[in-house]
Amino acid sequence: MNKLITAISHTKLLSWKKVSNYLLLLASFQVSRITKNPKIWGKPTTLSIEPTTSCNLRCPECPSGLRSFTRPTGMIKEDLFKKIIDENGLYLTYLHLYFQGEPYLHPKFLDFVSYANQRRVFTATSTNAHYLTKENVEKTLDSGLKQLIVSMDGITQEIYQDYRVGGNLSKVKEGLKLLIHKRAERKSLFPRIILQFLVTGKNEHQLEELKSWAKSMKVDELQLKSAQIYGFENGSDLIPKDSKYSRYILGKNGKWKLKKEIENKCWRMWQGSVVTWDGRVVPCCFDKDGEHVMGQLTNQSLKEIWQNAKYLHFRSSLLHDRKQIEICKNCTE
Ligand code: SF4
Repeated sequence: MNKLITAISHTKLLSWKKVSNYLLLLASFQVSRITKNPKIWGKPTTLSIEPTTSCNLRCPECPSGLRSFTRPTGMIKEDLFKKIIDENGLYLTYLHLYFQGEPYLHPKFLDFVSYANQRRVFTATSTNAHYLTKENVEKTLDSGLKQLIVSMDGITQEIYQDYRVGGNLSKVKEGLKLLIHKRAERKSLFPRIILQFLVTGKNEHQLEELKSWAKSMKVDELQLKSAQIYGFENGSDLIPKDSKYSRYILGKNGKWKLKKEIENKCWRMWQGSVVTWDGRVVPCCFDKDGEHVMGQLTNQSLKEIWQNAKYLHFRSSLLHDRKQIEICKNCTE
């Protein structure tokens, strides 16, 4: 049901420009795969924009949490955000206002959502849900946000804080309850609320309890996500025992490896980009520290960057030998 409601809201925001652009991207992706020569005929149809790198938590697999970025940290300026939407909004079918950090820590975050929403862009975000106060809940409902993904990886405080270090599970549950209640009061369907549970070896025993809790809370969807683990080759207690929830399997040589065979392709490189708070364009959300900066939106347009030699070279490397790109080795795309 949630997928249907989301699809309908996507469709309502479509235009001929967005559809034809999407088809051009798809066609150029297929042609590039066959010829091994990267062609790109459309403009980005999706974007992730990072409101801030700041975060209130200290999650162990996240550079925001570990404060380990080598790239600069900060908050996106309003001018830059508006420039990106003004230049690209007509082609965007999905805007994820998230990359690293906690979006609600940006004081203008919900104004950004409204700005994009008024330009008929489907907006989504991901949050640890520690800032769903009365005021923020009302503003979220006013903003036109279409999808709110809440990360919650434990159903008891003890297990929750094992990964979400510094987190307060009661606050998350209260915030969610308030949002769902206020949304019902307004008889609104949006934002669609997705509870995202990162399954690890430490919380997999709570899955059944989680499912009944999610049902009682009436969240719109529960997503069980497999965790990306750094240095997975030597194993980790974060890798779940139930292989259904793991991206990795143990090889015959005693080393862990990706379950999915890596293919020399990646639709994401034809679909859209990720923009850091200070306007750097990076290929995807796996490039958390910005090792592959394709251009800078403070002095270039996305249209220029999207077609530049560096981006084309990156796509070409993917088509020829994806394993030579470090970030792509630990990616299930
Ligand atoms: S890590 Fe590589 S393969 Fe994965 S989404 Fe990014 S560019 Fe594509």
